[in-house]
Amino acid sequence: MTSSRPPARETRPATPRVREATQVRPTTEGWTQQKDAEGRPLLQFASPKRGKPPVHLADLTPAERIAKVKELGMPGFRAKQLEKHYFTHWTHDPADMTDLPAAGREEFVHGMLPPLLTEVRRLETDRGDTIKFLWKLHDGALVESVLMRYPGRITLCVSSQAGCGMNCPFCATGQAGLTRNMSAAEIIEQVVRANRLIADGGLGDPRRVGHKGERVTNIVFMGMGEPLANYARVMQAVRVMVDKEHGLGMSARGITVSTVGLVPAITKLANEDIPVTFALSLHAPDDELRDELIPVNSRWKVDEALDAARAYFDKTGRRVSIEYALIKDMNDHAWRADLLAEKLNARGRGWVHVNPIPLNPTPGSIWTASERDVQDEFVRRLNDAGIPTTLRDTRGKEIDGACGQLVATEDDERVAAETPLEA
Ligand code: SAH
Repeated sequence: MTSSRPPARETRPATPRVREATQVRPTTEGWTQQKDAEGRPLLQFASPKRGKPPVHLADLTPAERIAKVKELGMPGFRAKQLEKHYFTHWTHDPADMTDLPAAGREEFVHGMLPPLLTEVRRLETDRGDTIKFLWKLHDGALVESVLMRYPGRITLCVSSQAGCGMNCPFCATGQAGLTRNMSAAEIIEQVVRANRLIADGGLGDPRRVGHKGERVTNIVFMGMGEPLANYARVMQAVRVMVDKEHGLGMSARGITVSTVGLVPAITKLANEDIPVTFALSLHAPDDELRDELIPVNSRWKVDEALDAARAYFDKTGRRVSIEYALIKDMNDHAWRADLLAEKLNARGRGWVHVNPIPLNPTPGSIWTASERDVQDEFVRRLNDAGIPTTLRDTRGKEIDGACGQLVATEDDERVAAETPLEA
């Protein structure tokens, strides 16, 4: 309890909170950031050239699927049968597909549903309610996804790129650089594999009974990669996720696309007519700090990113989410909470909420999460200013599966090298 009267022996005024004056700059960290020729943090927008993953049913539009089925010498209606096996029964095993003619079945199924992900590792925490998968792609690139059971929903955090080109210094994925874009089907396959695991009873404490027919209800594009830097493939994956007739039939609202702030792509997304939930990784309300913390701020400034976020709300009617990793003495100052609230309120009311994320540790990082009272004060100020603000219940820290922690370790690489690709 605090009392307004100082204790009897107190003779000096209380020490002012040094923290208010402390400003840790991103440049004081102990990581080595990749730089471009001009000495600025390297930004990689284009995917390095690598062997393309095999084309898969989920990469194609319904019409293209029929065309490909015919190319493989089958009547067009077989496309629908494959869609059903893959999107409803979550299988690509020819042995499960007894409605297809036995002659040439293996070859046909392999041609339409080639194997894309080989499971290398699976780590569990929260008594089995959180599972991190490490996948190897056809060319040996490694990606991760994290499956989380919450009361009333099951969320899958998917990767959209192997690595990431955005170079954010507090994110383990960013520090590793971009390996390549993932195909739409490689993104979708993460969901299909998760659904299969859930159907097999693999998610959660086996003593608690799961519901029959349970599956992934929510997708967050918050695994490895910057989804809007891989725009066309991510959008194809989203279309497949929401397609009720030819896809997974999920609700668009349950899909969250999170971006570091690629403004032209945000505008494009708003015009897609698929009302996904949109999240902007802001992390600082002032350009002075964001320039150092989020290298892409050199292209699109705080105000431009916020204007694009507000325009997303205008276009879709979907409330936007602002992500803010709280880093001790770097971006957690009370004045920054006030400035953030001011900038959001200047763009209207009721269009946005803030989702602070206590910083998760990354390898070699000397930064830490904000102290509890500072974090609470930050949240309180925003709420008091009329901005709904809720801390993210970040999961999977124990298995390096939380926000910003997804990166293949040397040990992952070793195990992956010994794991043969799924045939
Ligand atoms: N490229 C996308 C998705 C990134 S992951 C984006 O930038 O939005 C999802 C969120 O986790 C982002 O807001 C990201 O900035 C945040 N994040 C990254 N590293 C983190 C860390 N170490 N602790 C907490 N959040 C982190």
